[in-house]
Amino acid sequence: MKKQTRKFIFLLLAALPTWISAQEKPFFRSPDGLSLISTDLHIHTTFSDGSVWPNIRVEEALKEGLDLISITDHLEYQPHLKDLPNPDRNRSFQIAEDTAKKSKLTVIRGAEITRSMPPGHLNAVFIQDANKLLFPDDPVAGIEEANLQKGFVFWNHPNWDAHRKDGIAKLDPLHVELIERKLLHGIEVVNFDTISEEAIEIALENGLTMLGTSDIHKLTTWDFDIPQGGHRPMTFVLSQNNSPQEIKKALFAGKTVVWFKELIIAKEKHLLQLVKDNLSLSSPSYDGDKLIAKVTLRNHSANPLHLKYTGPFTFHQNSTIFKIEPYGEKDINIKTHRLMSVIDLQFELLNGIIGYKKNLNFSVKTM
Ligand SMILES: [Zn+2]
Ligand SMILES: [Zn+2]
Repeated sequence: MKKQTRKFIFLLLAALPTWISAQEKPFFRSPDGLSLISTDLHIHTTFSDGSVWPNIRVEEALKEGLDLISITDHLEYQPHLKDLPNPDRNRSFQIAEDTAKKSKLTVIRGAEITRSMPPGHLNAVFIQDANKLLFPDDPVAGIEEANLQKGFVFWNHPNWDAHRKDGIAKLDPLHVELIERKLLHGIEVVNFDTISEEAIEIALENGLTMLGTSDIHKLTTWDFDIPQGGHRPMTFVLSQNNSPQEIKKALFAGKTVVWFKELIIAKEKHLLQLVKDNLSLSSPSYDGDKLIAKVTLRNHSANPLHLKYTGPFTFHQNSTIFKIEPYGEKDINIKTHRLMSVIDLQFELLNGIIGYKKNLNFSVKTM
């Protein structure tokens, strides 16, 4: 091959990934200097009680624009055992990892440690060897081993009505012990189609990382209405970059945002950061000698923003409670009493949750 042609092909290949990713809009704009990694860390396959082969999990995740997943089959519960004898608990991960090779999706090793309450079900991700986590008769040994492997361990569906009749997440003494021993690092505040505000409170009070996962057993497209614009629950990790090491570090540091249906759930500082980069306000303009400012709010995310204006002004043509569609915009007329070149608008984000019965309050300044 001629040197020039080789050079051209090299340049073309180098430009390709940017060109492809430029075609898709991100779910959310990343806060300054950070990567926002979309993850699902709770997924099942036929190797435990799921209904699909691991390769389909990878294809689903790629179609849905995820950056990182973990296949977390139950270690101790394998209802398809007769048809699918599987002594190797790493096998579903290996198939998924192999399928994801050369794609933009990262697959990390994981497993679901499956116990009655307490402690219930716990996921261990970023582990080295799932087989070594298998201690069917000991409630804590698998969790200790996951920690020896430097894994990230979180409590699954603490609100599950099979374990908590009232659907209320609460800590048992064993959970308190696991937290004190630093063996438990996170908690699902969202699992499949449920949310737990009590789990949000537990996370905030105990320094646990908040997670939202699909816990998918069938097909995501059916369970989350993907063709109609739905999405699975995701955990966005605010990471320094997209390397698995940094993502793991950010998970341990509790830097997550959970996306569930139209809700975004995070610690106040993380949600503030996200909103700052995903909602912008145009400079005000005034017609003639009128004192009514016209501004446009822009939503740069895939999630609708439900806003309630909480500031001192009144609006001329709009309700102070409104919604901005995904990637959409909203024109607002504000009675500002005088000409203003810069306006600061205060809002409550009605679908932004930062605690138990607590929404995010923030302000946005005109450009
Ligand atoms: Zn479970
Ligand atoms: Zn599960």
